[in-house]
Amino acid sequence: MTSKKTRQFPLPLSSVVDSSSKGRRAGIDRLTPQTASRNAAQHHQHNPPKPTLPSALRTRAPAVVPSATSVARPAMLVSNAVRRAMVDRLVVQGIRDEKVLAAMDAAPRHLFVDPALASQAYIDASLPIGYHQTISQPYIVARMIEILRDNRQGGKLDKVLEIGTGCGYQALVLSMVAKEVYSIERIKGLHELAKNRLRPLLVPNIRLHYGDGMLGLPQAAPFDGIILAAAGMEVPDALLKQLVVGGRLIAPVGGERQALALIERTGPSSWSRTVMEDCHFVPLRKGVV
Ligand code: SAH
Repeated sequence: MTSKKTRQFPLPLSSVVDSSSKGRRAGIDRLTPQTASRNAAQHHQHNPPKPTLPSALRTRAPAVVPSATSVARPAMLVSNAVRRAMVDRLVVQGIRDEKVLAAMDAAPRHLFVDPALASQAYIDASLPIGYHQTISQPYIVARMIEILRDNRQGGKLDKVLEIGTGCGYQALVLSMVAKEVYSIERIKGLHELAKNRLRPLLVPNIRLHYGDGMLGLPQAAPFDGIILAAAGMEVPDALLKQLVVGGRLIAPVGGERQALALIERTGPSSWSRTVMEDCHFVPLRKGVV
């Protein structure tokens, strides 16, 4: 459904957020959590995949696989069914990558939101996580990771960098499709929150950093993939230089009006840029708090 437009990098911002309908999902002026859910509701026929559970969570996440005697079991079974329904919806919305769908099926999103919001964790919307920030809607998490995996290495991702850890949910999904995940958060309270949310899941391949993600992580670079969970008016140069040649960066770009930009490093000093669908993210900000 998504039409693509490949251009040479660098480009002015207007080329990313222009007012034409090119590069947008047909018939959708602006992709919001609401329109995404409405879209999903309009589709009737679909064949949900049968994703296999990544072994990492099958064996390491007691919260997802409670013992038979656990009092929490009925609630967990409900979560599993609701999460499966979310994955079915993702298929209807156009997510095709089986590995991404399996990861979305395995990641316990309800454990990353405030307990008061846990019952809403699997709806297709972003939800507040404190500090005026949000956990991204499931569709956009899946879509961005799907785009990252659609690379020249057949989906292989050794090292991935995420800018904007937030509550840590997307980092967890990434950890199931990449060998190593580095994630940076600029708000100390959220960095701590993500650590606390991820600790009980014993995920061995995520490294959380507190800092300004606009600078990237030179000490761990280069990365096969970089994913931004916050929108800037442009993608910081430092990040482009931390991609391997052949690597992909996916980022929301713009202010009030935003679109996903896919940037691929095509050579030591050349990058190509593809404008994808509209999106809506919290702003990328400088410095730390
Ligand atoms: N991936 C997150 C979504 C978090 S929302 C999740 O799964 O929950 C985006 C996050 O980006 C916010 O937490 C915000 O504080 C953070 N952010 C914004 N600018 C940043 C920067 N320059 N460096 C690091 N994090 C940043």
